[in-house]
Amino acid sequence: MIRDMAAGPRVLLKRLRELMAEPLEPQERLDRIVRDIAANMVAEVCSLYVLRADSVLELYATVGLNPNAVHLAQLRLGQGLVGTIAASARALNLSNAQEHPAFAYLPETGEEIYHSFLGVPVLRAGRTLGVLVVQNKTMRHYRDDEIEALETTAMVIAEMIASGDIGRLSRPGLELDLSRPASFTGIAFNEGVGLGHVVLHEPRIVVTNLFNEDSDEELRRLEDSLGSLRLSIDDMLERRDVAFEGEHREVLEAYRMFANDRGWVRRLEEAIRNGLTAEAAVEKVQSDMRARMMHMTDPYLRERMSDFDDLANRLLRQLLGRGPETIAESLPKDAIIVARSMGAAELLDYPRDRLRGLVLEDGAPTSHVVIVARAMGIPVAGQMKGVVSMSENGDPIIVDGVEGAVHLRPQPDLEAAYAEKVRFRARRQELYRELRKKPSETKDGVKVDLLMNAGLAVDLPQLAEAGAAGIGLFRTELQFMVASTFPRAEAQEKLYRDVLDTARGRPVTFRTIDIGGDKVLPYFKGSAQEEENPALGWRAIRLTLDRPGLLRTQIRALLKAAGGRELKVMLPMVTELGEIAQAREIIDREVRHLSRFAHHLPTSLKLGAMIEVPSLLWQLDELMQAVDFVSVGSNDLFQFVMAADRGNTQLADRFDTLSVPFLRVLKQIADAGLRNHTPVTLCGELAGKPISAMALLGLGYRSISMSPASIGPVKAMLTELPLGELTAFLDDNLAGPAARLPMRALLQAFADDRSIPL
Ligand code: PEP
Ligand code: MG
Repeated sequence: MIRDMAAGPRVLLKRLRELMAEPLEPQERLDRIVRDIAANMVAEVCSLYVLRADSVLELYATVGLNPNAVHLAQLRLGQGLVGTIAASARALNLSNAQEHPAFAYLPETGEEIYHSFLGVPVLRAGRTLGVLVVQNKTMRHYRDDEIEALETTAMVIAEMIASGDIGRLSRPGLELDLSRPASFTGIAFNEGVGLGHVVLHEPRIVVTNLFNEDSDEELRRLEDSLGSLRLSIDDMLERRDVAFEGEHREVLEAYRMFANDRGWVRRLEEAIRNGLTAEAAVEKVQSDMRARMMHMTDPYLRERMSDFDDLANRLLRQLLGRGPETIAESLPKDAIIVARSMGAAELLDYPRDRLRGLVLEDGAPTSHVVIVARAMGIPVAGQMKGVVSMSENGDPIIVDGVEGAVHLRPQPDLEAAYAEKVRFRARRQELYRELRKKPSETKDGVKVDLLMNAGLAVDLPQLAEAGAAGIGLFRTELQFMVASTFPRAEAQEKLYRDVLDTARGRPVTFRTIDIGGDKVLPYFKGSAQEEENPALGWRAIRLTLDRPGLLRTQIRALLKAAGGRELKVMLPMVTELGEIAQAREIIDREVRHLSRFAHHLPTSLKLGAMIEVPSLLWQLDELMQAVDFVSVGSNDLFQFVMAADRGNTQLADRFDTLSVPFLRVLKQIADAGLRNHTPVTLCGELAGKPISAMALLGLGYRSISMSPASIGPVKAMLTELPLGELTAFLDDNLAGPAARLPMRALLQAFADDRSIPL
């Protein structure tokens, strides 16, 4: 007779389903489950061990071992066979357990008479929550279908643990592992501290319907959903959807490969034949795979596992007919979004007033979503490996965007310490708000313009909130970067008009689109070749002069938006003066075109250049004569002067922006501006740090532009600064033989001596 291998597991799952539906106390339910498993598998013993937060596995239920050992017998993670299974997240199938080197005898259980042993990990989202074991007196080897059945049962138990049902049996101080605090360290992407609750950006779908009624029907559902999944991936490969902005094509290719992986599909089908629903099968196969891959050290393979996770999640959504639209719905008031990676536009879908932070498993400081998060003023920490699979929706979480740390399910004392930090920061903000009413002047009465940097509509409310004197740098490329196709002329014009309306007469400097380098537009395939040094490549003004259609459209939108008002336009990455002349020609032609059609033109048009490329340092006087104003882009200028990639974290602290040579460069620029009566601003990150802003004022800068959050701290410094003294101090130290002490330390001492808050 041919035995139906799937009959055993199916009968067992049917029993479990009935048990789950019965109104039982958790202990009673567990006792019955182990009894049913033992009966179904013809085993003399069946035991469940649950992992506690203190890394101890506690016996929670047994049939066959001494019942008095329940909640008393325990093993450390890694100790004995059970501890080994939990630590490795792999099943153990032994015909003579006592011979295994890891075997540890627990006298209280009375298990010495059992020889064969099968133990499987209880897994959820790749994490081990416990171990399920069956034992027999005879020396037997358990079959594959029996292992499969026990693993499937373990999955049901994982859900019971996750639902909190089993957790109710834990004793105070001995809570389950699922509620264990976890800390992660990575990189701080945006300043600030946020306390709140986890919102998984792509919520892991919780499968509640585990048992199928009809395997054939479930197999059909799986096939349909796999078909749609494959189609949607092909579609994405063709369209490169905005949600995949920044993701590599390679990832999508990997998705396609996985979606067609025969081994994967076979395992899914097998789980269904054993009695699971299609979605429970996806969950089980994924969990097994995650546990197996957990031990891999190859970063490439681990990365592929994350891709596989994403794919499984997509398949679950297909099966449950759920789109990715769940955002905003039932969002807590203190949401901290946890994502592997995310498109910039997706972040904008969350209501700003409920966001307290963003945690990314990947991400880079220059990724678009980080730029947008900065503009929204929310703390961001990234490169937090493993945070997505450890988090559950609603878990308490702290994001520390100062230190680059994340604390999941924090202990009360840690939470209290952070809450104090948040209060402290709020008090300081209050102080800065007070300062807004004060004039922006040094202690000795020198007026300074504190401007802000912006680039998106979400920045605009900050103009009033931060008390900025205007917008010193409007990065127009951000609108292009968060879009999925080139923004149309009308959309550009609308944004520029909104900016000018919000500014209400305060000056606004629009920088023409600065793409290329690290600012990639996924939908723009400009360059025919891969650039070896994109920062030195085809970018900014170089690119727009070669594609004049882009620049023309933008200039026209700016001219129209500024009808009847002043318009300031600034060119990025100018290297030689001919570029300014070429751009001016394009602008003049647009002005002529619009006046021919009787358009309302700006009352005045000022053209400026950014000083970012060192070549300009040897033609400063000619430059100042050729433009109406200049602005130092200290981020790029510093990277080119020091030959140090601004995005390379390994070099981040190597060279000091306040070193003598760089300060001398900055002073030359300020002096040339004064000599030529050409206004000079600085709009790089340097302007936003109180100590470097102080240095800039000492070098002669009277206008600096920074992120809105920096205006308060810089103003607090400014109002306490005796500028005359600082100017003399810097002149002395920069003129003589290169300073003996690092300039940063000298400036810090200068401020400390005079109680200037930095
Ligand atoms: C700079 O380079 O300093 C600058 C302000 O431009 P961006 O940071 O946008 O390159
Ligand atoms: Mg720049």
